[in-house]
Amino acid sequence: MRLFLEYNQKVNLISRNDSEYLFEKHIYDSLSINLFLQRYVSENKVRMLDIGTGGGFPSIPVAICIDRSDVTAVDSTLKKIKFLEYIKEELALKNLHPVCKRAEELAYRGKFDVSVSRAMSELRVILEYAIPYLKEGGFFAAYKSIKADEEIKNAKNALKVLNCEIVDKIEYKLPIEEENKRVLIIVRKNSETESIYPRKNGMISKKPL
Ligand code: SAH
Repeated sequence: MRLFLEYNQKVNLISRNDSEYLFEKHIYDSLSINLFLQRYVSENKVRMLDIGTGGGFPSIPVAICIDRSDVTAVDSTLKKIKFLEYIKEELALKNLHPVCKRAEELAYRGKFDVSVSRAMSELRVILEYAIPYLKEGGFFAAYKSIKADEEIKNAKNALKVLNCEIVDKIEYKLPIEEENKRVLIIVRKNSETESIYPRKNGMISKKPL
């Protein structure tokens, strides 16, 4: 937290208002992924892809606290990835791999056990980034809050086209007074993704599935 808050003075990683609740809103929330891992993933090692990691959520708390995780953290913004490289170095996090790239251009097809994404995009959009990089039988966990049900409704076609299904919604609360309901939407990849996905040139958000 100290390293994060110092760096956040120079480079905007999260809003100033939120930095007061760094633990409650960002670190605690990131670590809720354990609610999913404990139930669904029994392997000793979990290869995880974090799409649009920003200031390292959930990647950094996960890499620090969850020993069996091996996390590839992707963001298209260099200043964010520079911060992750700094944290990796300072805390000697061998299981954190920061990558500066657009998520639709990664060379990791079918490689990951788990993909995650927090505060990046609506479900039907993020599915197209998240599903192709999973192994068959792998899981995507989307960090969501109050609009989850609406996003699920709008994601019907994306789920079908990408050969995956929602298998769980894990609800929890953040330790704050204000709006605190959160949910992890758990999606399983049932079979291989057609090679046209993820589409390039901004198509994913211009024409969502
Ligand atoms: N996951 C973080 C950050 C969310 S902000 C958190 O929970 O706080 C969304 C981040 O996604 C931004 O840092 C932005 O640079 C990144 N992003 C948006 N589109 C992207 C894309 N196509 N590929 C990679 N990163 C992307």
